Amino acid sequence: MAHVIIGAGLAGAKAAEKLRAEGYDGELVLVGDERERPYERPPLSKGYLIGDQDRGEVFVHDEGWYGEHGVDLRLGTRAVRIDRGAREVELGDGARLGYSKLLLATGSSPRRLKVEGNTLDGVHYVRRLGHTAALREALGEVSRVVVAGAGWIGLEIAAAARGKGCEVTVVDPAPSPLHAALGQEMGGFFADIHRDHGVQFRFGEGVERFAGAGRVEAVVTPSGEIPADLVVVGVGARPNVELAEDAGLAVDGGVVVDQAMRTEDPDIFAAGDIAAVPSSRYGRRLRVEHWQNAISGGEAAAVAMLGGDVVYDDLPYFFSDQYDVGMEFVGLVDGYDRVETRGDVAGRAFTAYWVAGEEVVAGMHVNLWDDGIDAIRDLVAGRGLPS
Ligand SMILES: Cc1cc2nc3c(=O)[nH]c(=O)nc-3n(C[C@H](O)[C@H](O)[C@H](O)COP(=O)(O)OP(=O)(O)OC[C@H]3O[C@@H](n4cnc5c(N)ncnc54)[C@H](O)[C@@H]3O)c2cc1C
Repeated sequence: MAHVIIGAGLAGAKAAEKLRAEGYDGELVLVGDERERPYERPPLSKGYLIGDQDRGEVFVHDEGWYGEHGVDLRLGTRAVRIDRGAREVELGDGARLGYSKLLLATGSSPRRLKVEGNTLDGVHYVRRLGHTAALREALGEVSRVVVAGAGWIGLEIAAAARGKGCEVTVVDPAPSPLHAALGQEMGGFFADIHRDHGVQFRFGEGVERFAGAGRVEAVVTPSGEIPADLVVVGVGARPNVELAEDAGLAVDGGVVVDQAMRTEDPDIFAAGDIAAVPSSRYGRRLRVEHWQNAISGGEAAAVAMLGGDVVYDDLPYFFSDQYDVGMEFVGLVDGYDRVETRGDVAGRAFTAYWVAGEEVVAGMHVNLWDDGIDAIRDLVAGRGLPS
């Protein structure tokens, strides 16, 4: 029977690659409901959106890779149910696929803003290649853009829209951008970067509704109307855990797995955005919605599916590019006393450490690519203090 992977995104593709690299030569099926072969999503709010990267550069593997490696890639195919008793996956067309080991890598979907007007033309969400293709075209034709949500994706899109010469306003109920991810201090740093590039912010207010007749014309917040030709909503994502839930697997924020990415069913694994994995550093399960976690988590699951010893315990890692500011971050900002910086904050080349008591819980570098993230990772892992 086959090893089956549900979800032809980054985690699924990397798991397939690793299964073959580790010598698995049995039947391997990768099921994905999108029409495109697996691709990377970071360019969707960066290089591909601004036109620095072509469509052909975002894919995880060349088109021929799947055939050459005997991966039965079934695109445009949705898995609708897992029958654990029969060890089968039911597909949208009613076909059934037997599995010996099953990996769930179904990723996330954008959270919707449930307000009046959210289906008007000109209101965009960004998760898929087609979303960015549409947004990329639309940004060239509008002048006033409102971004709902000052998270990573919202800020990257704000930067892209400024790059196209649009007026940009970002609205968020939090007091600063990236508030949950970085806290007030470093959120303020990113706010300043965007203000320097002409972005307007409305913090402390949520979107009440989108106004317009057929097409969006304004975003209404408690303090008034912001005229808009185009709106991008970036208010977070929710993990696609329905298949796991329906199959009776434990779900607690994400699909509950051990450090070998195995669910309570020894033949079913989960990786990428949906997996809630125990972290020894933070003493609880973490569900990480980041690129590196999809790669290394997918690979770890593959090794475990083949019976290898796996302890997946990576620290959360993230990167972002906005204007000429690139950054890498490692750890978790989840209760800290202070932020310490080293280097040139005003010159935008520095390191920041989030410190709780006598240990660093997270760290970031901004534009220090020669130093990189490794020393920061060691410090966070080793619970040290910056010198
Ligand atoms: C615009 C954008 C920018 C990002 N930028 C960064 C960044 O700069 N840095 C960073 O670290 N991370 C970034 N991320 C996050 C990163 O891309 C994700 O963490 C990563 O894609 C997760 O990979 P995944 O394989 O778990 O899920 P996904 O990439 O979401 O892939 C899951 C796939 O499974 C499919 N699927 C779901 N249910 C089914 C089903 N029932 N049957 C069949 N197929 C199904 C989905 O349609 C999807 O194709 C970004 C994400 C987005 C959307």
